[in-house]
Amino acid sequence: MIEIVSATRCVECDICVKVCPANVFDATGGVPVVARQEDCQTCFLCEIYCPTDALYVAEVAEGPTGISEAEVEARHLFGGYARALGWRRGKAGGSQFDPTHRIRVAQ
Ligand code: SF4
Ligand code: SF4
Repeated sequence: MIEIVSATRCVECDICVKVCPANVFDATGGVPVVARQEDCQTCFLCEIYCPTDALYVAEVAEGPTGISEAEVEARHLFGGYARALGWRRGKAGGSQFDPTHRIRVAQ
């Protein structure tokens, strides 16, 4: 479930508002707000598309967990899901995390 929108990281681009399939966020003209947290589908789309890693989605679908922004920062959880997927924020590389080159087609 979506847990944190970091006002210090957010650049107010509203990408999270646009990509969320459940219309969880409301645009404000500034930092978006989580207006319908209970509608979150824990799909992580907002987190992986946020350009500044300002969002944290907990892996627990039932929530909220009550985790604080300070704890998310301290545990380096901002952007963690995108890193796990190999997304590198426009930087080169990332394919070293993709294991599919090891797959061989059985003859
Ligand atoms: S996608 Fe990230 S930077 Fe953009 S408005 Fe949402 S939280 Fe802020
Ligand atoms: S995790 Fe998915 S459903 Fe939940 S706020 Fe983000 S984009 Fe919306």
